[in-house]
Amino acid sequence: MTNRQELIVNNVDKNKQMVLDAERWLWAHPQTGYTEWEAHNYLVEKFEALGYELQLAGNIPGFWTDIDTGKPGPKLAIFGELDALDIANHPESVNGMTHCCGHHGQVAALLGIAAGLKEPGALDGLSGSIRLIAVPAEEMIQLEFRENLRKEGVIKYNGGKVEFMHRGVLDDCQIAMMVHGGNMGDVYDFAGSHGSNGCMAKTIKFKGKSSHAGGAPHLGVNAQYAAMLGLQACNDLRETFQEKDTVRFHPIMMGVNVAVNIIPDEMKIESYVRGGSLEAIKRENKKINRALTGAALAMGAGVELCDRPGYAPEIHDDAFMKLIEQCCIDLVGAERVMFDYTKWGTGSSDFGDITCVMPGVQFSCAGASGTGHGIDYYITDPNRLCVNSAKAQLLVTDALLCNEAAAAKEIIANYKPQFDSIPEYLKAIDEISLDKDAVKYDENGNAVVDFQNI
Ligand SMILES: [Zn+2]
Ligand SMILES: [Zn+2]
Repeated sequence: MTNRQELIVNNVDKNKQMVLDAERWLWAHPQTGYTEWEAHNYLVEKFEALGYELQLAGNIPGFWTDIDTGKPGPKLAIFGELDALDIANHPESVNGMTHCCGHHGQVAALLGIAAGLKEPGALDGLSGSIRLIAVPAEEMIQLEFRENLRKEGVIKYNGGKVEFMHRGVLDDCQIAMMVHGGNMGDVYDFAGSHGSNGCMAKTIKFKGKSSHAGGAPHLGVNAQYAAMLGLQACNDLRETFQEKDTVRFHPIMMGVNVAVNIIPDEMKIESYVRGGSLEAIKRENKKINRALTGAALAMGAGVELCDRPGYAPEIHDDAFMKLIEQCCIDLVGAERVMFDYTKWGTGSSDFGDITCVMPGVQFSCAGASGTGHGIDYYITDPNRLCVNSAKAQLLVTDALLCNEAAAAKEIIANYKPQFDSIPEYLKAIDEISLDKDAVKYDENGNAVVDFQNI
């Protein structure tokens, strides 16, 4: 490491205990997307104590703050996510929620970055500015709750980052990064990949008719059977999904009005359709909606289809990855860094939305054990998860913005965005929204089906 890099690392180490305390506190106060007020309030207090003036999202959790170097140059956005998961059977769950995706470690690291940037010499030789963003709601869960927030006008989008894009928080940013913690065993400290799937969110409601399950099933229409038939048809369609599109459809049945002696008159399903491109997601979703509609018709049931934009495929900028890889190597050594420039993940993140309009990289750091989104997920090395993450991100910040921000400017100049602007991107995903009562019967029992926006 250079003297400059040693100073940066030392600036984080001076604040190490605050970061580690934040990780423990945030782990013990998990809340799901758009309700993360405890983490929000804790972090607002800590950031303000460091001397930051914050912009608050206001009616949802989340805030951001700018650090200006005083010299002209690009603005770098750095994200930390606030939200936890609904996973009541995790041994350390609080009110049914746990940070078993480790997002609390991201905001603990963001606090370390904020503290490091306040240390003497932190901004020496840098140009441009840095926007630190504590963002809510990465996990796209509780779709009904979010749909209600949307109807109330609180939010427009399910994902916190795309909601922040909609609110203008990213308007003057030109480049973005974040670090997601995970279980990487003892082999690596940092990893990078080419990117990951995008997704859309689906709520499907099969509608039947209740009746006595034993005495008079002939008077009912079984919504559960219609749902099962629909999912069977979707399963049979899987062989038509092409490998190149990495499509994932993973429905979960969420029973409503359930009792063993009543023919169920409603069966709700939530799912995503994930894929490697927005085009593939839209194409395969059309088949899925057709299959669900056909199943409802077969059983004499109805089906309501509700599709909402999810996240865009996340595509990392290669040149930016190279710079990050080098910073990670400088910090922990080449043997503890694994950047794979072709690896594609089949999960999704709303950081993908960011990468549609500006060069961005989400890379990974170690420090967790067990299974992500699983009941055995724990933080076993908060130093690697939070402190090392803050150090790496500050080294990247310095490499991007030193020397009149030459590296950042070059990455931005060579980047070819998938969409020319944030409004253009939002317009494209708005076209995904669909609300259909897909099967309508007339008095003779004939039906009209309608499952597409045409
Ligand atoms: Zn997750
Ligand atoms: Zn996550």
